[in-house]
This record gives sequence, structure tokens and C-alpha cells, in this order.
Amino acid sequence: MLFQTMEGGSFLNLIESIDKFAVGIFRQFLIREDADKVLILTPNEEYKRWAIAYLSTRLKGFGKKVVVECEGGRKEQKEIESPKDNLLDKYTFENFVVGPSNELAYKVCLEVAKNPGKLFNPLFIYGRSGLGKTHLLHAIGNQLKARYRVLYIPLMDFSDSMVKAFKENRVEEFRERFFNLDVLLLDDVQFLVGKERTQIELFRIYEKLQAEEKQIVLVSDRHPRDLKDVSERLISRFESGLIIEVGLDEETKRRIIKQKLILYGLPLDQETIDYVFENTGYNVREIEGFVKTLKVSGIKRLPKSEELDKEKKVQLIINTVAKGFKLNPELLKKDTKERKVINARHIAMFLCKTILNLPYSQIGEFFGKKDHTAVMYAVKKVEQRCREDRKFMYMVSFFEKSIRKSLGL
Ligand code: ADP
Ligand code: MG
Repeated sequence: MLFQTMEGGSFLNLIESIDKFAVGIFRQFLIREDADKVLILTPNEEYKRWAIAYLSTRLKGFGKKVVVECEGGRKEQKEIESPKDNLLDKYTFENFVVGPSNELAYKVCLEVAKNPGKLFNPLFIYGRSGLGKTHLLHAIGNQLKARYRVLYIPLMDFSDSMVKAFKENRVEEFRERFFNLDVLLLDDVQFLVGKERTQIELFRIYEKLQAEEKQIVLVSDRHPRDLKDVSERLISRFESGLIIEVGLDEETKRRIIKQKLILYGLPLDQETIDYVFENTGYNVREIEGFVKTLKVSGIKRLPKSEELDKEKKVQLIINTVAKGFKLNPELLKKDTKERKVINARHIAMFLCKTILNLPYSQIGEFFGKKDHTAVMYAVKKVEQRCREDRKFMYMVSFFEKSIRKSLGL
């Protein structure tokens, strides 16, 4: 026989440590346990289903294969996998960069990770994409997973898994998986919009977990009140706890850039930091992408002579456009708000981008230290007007042709 019965084996000890009531039921079953496998024989199918549902969320870290079978020799066996928590080790509190715009969210998450189910329950975190919301959810989970039953799940997966359970007549099993949690980390809650069945199931789980003071953390790209087409009762539950926004400010962005440069073994000088800063938006995912590209393609800086050459080319563009508008070229570098000057400045900036393909930040420098966002705006504005206004487009392409000719391009 494959198994030796081990009286009071480690399986029963485990169950006893979880819950005295359940151990009483398991003692009625025939249990055979060896070093790496446990076979549980239940008296009937009903007990078998119960045992499977009960164990499906409680065997984390147990380390042995557990099989439940019905006495009476049914061949069908069901192996219970140790529950997946879906947590990614790479997202921790230690590697989350903190600054003014995410400090509050960070501190509250840290508190939740110390005392789940206590102070901030539910916790609702919202903010634009790429600002570290998912990172924080995993960080909480990673801190708690050794001592608590934790599950990280994006709403779409929750929804898919629910639909599958309904189809396969396993709804109770599906619910049990959530009812037995200590910590539920639910990501991308905005996808609840319009999903009625999912909302009903989530509400049921939510109420059960809250009643037992189990921790729930929800993440969304918008505030609960902006979740249209989500039932009022769910929204009011979300709003009943603490709601925190994560953002990204200049200081935090700079700190994150430094962290990512270190991570990819790139130089940490001010020039490189500025270069990344000015060529990325307020989105950490974008910053990571940009730094990765730098790692692959290298940081290209031109020698001084070429820099000088570039300055001359920019000046030529400014002179040509200013002349067309009958303006003093220097005006384009000042802060003049006159319509005509703004127009000419936008076109000149646009041409610096399209003809010379300089970084936005550098174009800004040549135009009297203007911010890179002002250059981005100018380029977008000219592109838009070119699409809408044929005369304007002709004028811009006339400038472009004449400049290309002068530059020998
Ligand atoms: P969101 O869920 O808000 O869209 P993510 O958590 O997926 O954003 O973050 C996108 C990427 O940026 C991830 O790789 C994450 O590790 C990183 N990231 C975001 N915020 C920070 C931060 N404050 N410090 C370090 N890395 C961060
Ligand atoms: Mg996310």
C-alpha cells in the first residue's frame, strides 16, 4: 500500500491549528499520510465536496500533495493545489520610491500590511495609470503572505473565474475561495462598470469579509463616485473606508528616475537625470521604458562642435519663420503673448522637431529656456492646425522646404 496511516500526522495538526471545528470532521475520515502525500477518504460525495472546498484555500505552504477521495472505491480523484496568491515578488515596499505625491498612499499601505483588517478597511486607492497602484497592492500582499491567507486578483480575472464557476456548477467552490481569505487585494476595480453579475458576487464576498473584519484593498483608475454603472450599494461600501489618491509630482519623478538609472546601471549625473525627466511624461511605466531604451541604445550626446552647429541650425529656423511673419527673431525667444508671435514661435518649434528631430527639452532651451511641455504643446498645436486648415498647412510646408534647402537637406 502506498500510504501508511500516521496517527496525529502533520495534516491533522495543520487543520487543528486553523480551526477546531473542522478538525473534528476530518478525524471522522480515513486519512493516510506519508512524507509527501496525504490521502483523505470521505464517507460520501457530499463530504468529499466539502473537504475539497474547505482545503482549497488552506493548504498554502503545507508542502504535501493532498488527494481527496470518496470511500467505496470511486476511481475519480481530485488533487488539491495549494492556493495561488498571484503575488509578484518583485513589487515590495523596499523598492517603492516615496515622494510627496505618493507618501500618504505608501504609509497607509504599510499600516495595512502591519495590521490588516484594523484601521483602514476597506482601503480604496485610485490614480492614473502607471503610478504604482498595482505595485503597492503586491507589496502589501508580499508582506502578509507568510501569516495570512492573501489573494491578489485583477477584477477581470475575478469576473472570468466567476463566469467559469457558474458554467461548471462550481459556484460554492468559487465563493469559498474568497470567503476563506484574510486579505483580498482587488485590482482595476474600474472594470466593474456594467458587469452586473460580477457586482452581485463581489458584493456578497465583500459583505462576508467585512463582517469578519478581513482586510479588503481596492484599486481603481478613478474615484468610487466616478464609477458609473456600478451599483449604489457597492459604491457606498467603497466609500465607507479610506480613499486615497496616488499622483506623481516633480520631486517624486526625479527620485524615481534616479532609482531606475541605478537599476539599469546607467550614469547618475544631473545631465542624464534631466534628459530622462524632460523626455518622459508623468508616468512611471513610461519612465521605465525610456530608461530601458537608454540602456539598450546608449546615451547619445553630441560633441561640442556639433552642439554649436545645432544652435546655428535652430537660429536659421527661427530667422526664416520670423522673417515670414515680419517679426524680430529675438521676439520668438521671449515670453511675448501677442497672437502673431505665439503663432510664429509654435511653427518654429514644430520645424525644429520635424527637421532636426531634437529632444523637446533642448528645443525649449534654444527658445529662451522654455519648458519641454511648452514645446510639446506647440508641436501638437501645429499638427492639429495643419490637419484642419489647408492654408496654414501650405504656409508651414513652404517654411519647411525653404529651410531644408538652406540646410542642404
Ligand atoms: P499602476 O498600477 O498604477 O498602473 P504599476 O504599479 O503597474 O502602476 O506601476 C508601473 C511600473 O512602475 C511598475 O513596474 C512599478 O514597479 C513602477 N513604479 C510605479 N511607481 C513606483 C514607485 N513609486 N517606485 C518605484 N517603482 C514604481
Ligand atoms: Mg495597475
